[in-house]
Amino acid sequence: MNPIFTKMVDAVEAANAAPDDYINASDGLKYCGKCRTPKEAFFPADLQAQGFTKHPVMCKCAAERRERKEAKRREYERMSHMTMLRSEAFHDMPAALWRFESAAVTTPQLAKARGYAQNWDEFKKAGIGRLLFGNVGTGKSYAAGCIANALIDRLESVLFVGMSDVVNRMQGNFGTDRDHYMKSLMRPDLLILDDLGAERNTSFGKERVFDVVDKRLLTGKPMIVTTNIPLSVMKQAADLDDRRIFDRILEVCVPIRFDGENFRKGNASANIKKAAEMLNG
Ligand SMILES: [Zn+2]
Repeated sequence: MNPIFTKMVDAVEAANAAPDDYINASDGLKYCGKCRTPKEAFFPADLQAQGFTKHPVMCKCAAERRERKEAKRREYERMSHMTMLRSEAFHDMPAALWRFESAAVTTPQLAKARGYAQNWDEFKKAGIGRLLFGNVGTGKSYAAGCIANALIDRLESVLFVGMSDVVNRMQGNFGTDRDHYMKSLMRPDLLILDDLGAERNTSFGKERVFDVVDKRLLTGKPMIVTTNIPLSVMKQAADLDDRRIFDRILEVCVPIRFDGENFRKGNASANIKKAAEMLNG
């Protein structure tokens, strides 16, 4: 037998040995004292003819031990990947903490948003997003943030950005920097453009918004847009620059109307009430 091979087999054998191992009289192979399954196997007949008789194998408990270790490593990798996706998605925004599970109330709108996340595979394939529109403080951004986190849990990449930040970034960057930024908006599986209409209302701003929306649409990947602009206004915008932006969005984003009470105002009044109670002892 090849001496190097013999050494290798001896080394594996040593690593595969435990004090309570035993030789099974019926087949002459070494067995594990714990799980009582073989730690050795015979080589095929042609190799046996060349002098190679047995080789080490993993007994049941060793295989299970390895599988547990592997599962732990995979889980660790999944968690690290998820942490990275979340840090890339939000850039220090509170939205990183917004979740369907921790919502104080599940409004019909939030339920629809959840449905979007639950049926993500189909929407992703079809390139269909959502337009979350309605008055200030009705939970549109919150719903979008919940969708983002639900998808990140499934290791999908998401980018949540304010529309005005996008325009500002484009204004401050030129040439390759702007291209680079534009590419970063196209890369994630889901792009969330928060608060359309809050950006600079200039022809430059509108041009950039159209660019982003149009390019995103061409990638075939979904986007979610939130806005205070009523759907009726979007559908009949007099300004042609606005019109072509809204038309593009409505081509691929199914609207959800957010109405009802202003959550932020609700929170504020609760805070004021609490403050009043404290002051009055
Ligand atoms: Zn064993």
